[in-house]
Amino acid sequence: MYPKDKFIHLRSDIKLLFRLAIARVTGSSRKTRIVSASAALLTLIAFGAAGVAPIATDPEDIPVRAISAELQLPSLNEQIAKLEAQQQLYFAEDKMRAGDTLASLLSRLGVDDDAASSFIRSDGSARAILRLKPGTTVQAQTANNGVLQTLRTTITDGGTTSNLVIRRDGNKFGVSQENADIERRVEMHTGVIRSSLFAATDAADIPDGVASQIVAMFGTDINFASDLKRGDHFNVAYETFWQNGRFLRAGRILAGEFVNAGKPFQAVWFDDPSNAQGGGYYGFDGKSLKKAFLKSPLAFTRISSGFSMRMHPILGKWKRHTGVDFAASSGTPIHATADGTIDFAGVETGYGNVVIIKHDSRYSTVYAHMSRFAPASRKGAKVSQGDVIGYVGMTGWATGPHLHYEFRVSNEPRDPLSVVVPTVAPLAGAELQRFQTVVADITHRFNLLSGSEIAAATAPRIASK
Ligand SMILES: [Zn+2]
Repeated sequence: MYPKDKFIHLRSDIKLLFRLAIARVTGSSRKTRIVSASAALLTLIAFGAAGVAPIATDPEDIPVRAISAELQLPSLNEQIAKLEAQQQLYFAEDKMRAGDTLASLLSRLGVDDDAASSFIRSDGSARAILRLKPGTTVQAQTANNGVLQTLRTTITDGGTTSNLVIRRDGNKFGVSQENADIERRVEMHTGVIRSSLFAATDAADIPDGVASQIVAMFGTDINFASDLKRGDHFNVAYETFWQNGRFLRAGRILAGEFVNAGKPFQAVWFDDPSNAQGGGYYGFDGKSLKKAFLKSPLAFTRISSGFSMRMHPILGKWKRHTGVDFAASSGTPIHATADGTIDFAGVETGYGNVVIIKHDSRYSTVYAHMSRFAPASRKGAKVSQGDVIGYVGMTGWATGPHLHYEFRVSNEPRDPLSVVVPTVAPLAGAELQRFQTVVADITHRFNLLSGSEIAAATAPRIASK
């Protein structure tokens, strides 16, 4: 038998246990709280009936601790039971296909809901689903009978992207257009040249747009058609944009390093508000990579005839060749090798379709035998280095498609491969200091990536010819 005062302790313990039991079943219904608390009481009585000794020796703590441990089970079971009672929702995701109708799309998503279909067809905002481009992802949540709960997709309207969400609310539907957060990531990849740059970037899962930027970045130093060697390697850091965990597109290369025949070429993007493009690429030594003239007006090419005396293929007599011929297939884009103004775009004997760009009072460049002009190539139009001005062809005196490129200094043709051209001023002062911080960071990352000691920051940049 318990002494009277111990019995009072027991009663207060029971009250405490009730509070404890209720606290542990937070969020549950009133009915199940009572069940759980009753279970606690029964457990306590069981302890008491068995005459468990600790109650007599330490009446405050021991029963409470022992029973609270038992209480976890009904609480957990109750929560699982609650989840089981909830309506099962199915999640499905698929891509819009060419030739899809709303019915075929919804069917693949497991939606069997006439009310939802007619809402999507009739509602002004929801109708955007009918205009989705093939390849767009659509997600659906349905009840187990196929009734639509939510339908979600990403729509792009005039350059802005948002999430379109159609939600069932009882017997009605609502549509909302929610801002889709775009996430920016920086990705770093390394690649080794075995055949071509594009084969190497494909193998390293680098998007083609980034590969083209590698060509543009180092185009003043490396001719990617003729200069690449097996074993050349590169590191590249570029930004990518993601939405809802899906890849949207690649952005700008932030830094790149290309080792060509053992010579390292490095470039890093540096924000410069004074620059029209918001920044530019610099060597790790702070010198702008932007040369006054590109090495080649074509991204991928080989020189078929240099600047020299030669037997003219059509006239059949010895004549000075006043330019460089680049072999390329018809339709290959031709890029302006430097900033300037179009001085002539038309037909000239021998040259065929030809564009002449005046760069300043001294320099001009000539691009001949074009199959066609770029739409913007008109006399007086401003062009930037790298802009497409026309396409390779064989108009005029040409035996096959190629680009005849002339480099004129004070209207005199000179060899574009050997002429010394002006360069852009390097960074200095505070800008150079800010730049060096950026370079130190990227050098560290590249070294981690390649796991090798490329003396990026210290090696002098190899000047181009
Ligand atoms: Zn020529």
